[in-house]
Amino acid sequence: MRIEWDERRCASLGMCEEVAPDVFEIADDGELTLLVPEPPEGSRALVLDAVAACPTGSLRLLG
Ligand code: SF4
Repeated sequence: MRIEWDERRCASLGMCEEVAPDVFEIADDGELTLLVPEPPEGSRALVLDAVAACPTGSLRLLG
């Protein structure tokens, strides 16, 4: 599975990081960094929670 992130919609609010800090990180410059763009299958539920927590619809999980 792979995380798709729409940078143009992202408002750097950090909800995804709060849910899954090992996968998403807001850098010092405010930009979101995908630490694990292709998370292991065992992380699916957590990543789905993070995708659902994004208020701007910037995240999708493919695969
Ligand atoms: S929750 Fe959504 S808007 Fe906020 S940093 Fe993550 S991807 Fe961006």
